[in-house]
Amino acid sequence: MTEDTSRVDVTSGISGRASAARDLIALLTPLANLDEGPVSSRQSDGNPPFSERCRILSAIESLLLALVPDQPLYAAFHDGKVHDPLGGGAYAFREDLVGPLLAALVHDEDLSADGDSISRPKAPDALDIPNRPIVIHAGAQPNNSPHCGTLIVFCYAFAVAQAIRDRMHAMAAGAKVAFQPPPVRVEITFVDTAPVSGEGLEINGVHYQRSYRDTPGAATAWTGDYHEVLTLLSRWSGVPFTTAVQSDFFSNAAMPQLLDYLITNRHTLGRQLSPKHGTLALRAACPVPGCGLAEKHGRLNQYDTTPPPSTTTTITFYCPHHGPHTLALSNASPPAVTRRLEANAPTRNLLRSMAHLLDTTRHHIRVTGADYAGSYQETMLYRPLAEWAAATGLGRGRTPHILYAPLVVDWSGAKLSKSLYVREGGYDGMELLGTEGLASWRVLRDAEGEEGLRRVWGEVGRWVGDPRRVFRCFSVEYLRRVVVEGRGWEG
Ligand SMILES: [Zn+2]
Repeated sequence: MTEDTSRVDVTSGISGRASAARDLIALLTPLANLDEGPVSSRQSDGNPPFSERCRILSAIESLLLALVPDQPLYAAFHDGKVHDPLGGGAYAFREDLVGPLLAALVHDEDLSADGDSISRPKAPDALDIPNRPIVIHAGAQPNNSPHCGTLIVFCYAFAVAQAIRDRMHAMAAGAKVAFQPPPVRVEITFVDTAPVSGEGLEINGVHYQRSYRDTPGAATAWTGDYHEVLTLLSRWSGVPFTTAVQSDFFSNAAMPQLLDYLITNRHTLGRQLSPKHGTLALRAACPVPGCGLAEKHGRLNQYDTTPPPSTTTTITFYCPHHGPHTLALSNASPPAVTRRLEANAPTRNLLRSMAHLLDTTRHHIRVTGADYAGSYQETMLYRPLAEWAAATGLGRGRTPHILYAPLVVDWSGAKLSKSLYVREGGYDGMELLGTEGLASWRVLRDAEGEEGLRRVWGEVGRWVGDPRRVFRCFSVEYLRRVVVEGRGWEG
């Protein structure tokens, strides 16, 4: 009975496809013979009438749907007209993105780490140029070859660094007294504490993960692709770059002090940073050789703090195979201790911004995807930062500098997701539609060589040159023509 039903479906699919193909052929045949066909079927300009064009489009849609019946394709026709409408950020920053950013950095130099006003050494001619070196930060999880969303974030970071450097040099060149602007570089931090797919487990509703750095071979499987991209962008922009991993991040000199604040306020911060579990997602991998499991959300962590003056906090972590293990923290903890720690994305985000605000020797600008803009940052970053500044006086009067790179979205407006791509079958259609190179640098490079990245770099450079364009999304269809085919859109 089951076999019969199956055969009927297949037959129906095939006959449906044949019927759709015949309909389209019937409409196309007169078009193919336009130069010979009867004059009555054409308009005076030689084009088929409007109603006929509509029927042709409809027939193309029908054929696409029936082409592979068990995986229908939907046509997405458009007129190819590109608009960059104003509104919100596009309106506010349409003339200039770099100038307001530099002014904000100069403003920071008038404040100490605890928000007091200080007298900074002024540049000659009162130039609005910062004195401190500028670092443009971006991050990446090295769990596959970078897709075009990641390439765009990297290109944006280098393009902004280049624009800042060039603007400062232009300003300095106009000064009466020689002045050397500060250096600008890009720093990419790899989240090598992200979970490796298939290495985690769940016991009684508690999740455990094994991270890239604790899984032999995993962390290095894709990092070569990232370095390849970064080296090219650095060469084209003339902006140097450095890379870091999570142990570098947790070795920051301010980390013991910041962790102390987070742990002391863990009940409030846990609810803010992890609405689902209400706990601070601090982790440390099990130290037993070959294990490396870490409890993902910090739900089983125990915190014990000795009273002042010698305040030490012991965090007891839990491994499902080897039981508890501890890490003792104090304000004098060396990097060798704190570098073992890991945190989830919102906790890293907060710690990073706090550390950047406390640094009065360098400026830090973060570049990240626009999916983090809005409520995410307001809830998980700015509110905790405001509370921290009010409670401790640290970072008072200052906020992080963050630029959001345009999202790459699919036909429905959803962002092109790396994790969906990594999951088998997530974007099967991209290969069929010729857009697979947008989902993997390795595929793009094999097809187009470094020219594929050069096209992304050129496109992002256009956005930075006309900042209306960084306050919108770009579709896979748009980028297919620009990046895969090497042709631009009129706009
Ligand atoms: Zn273990």
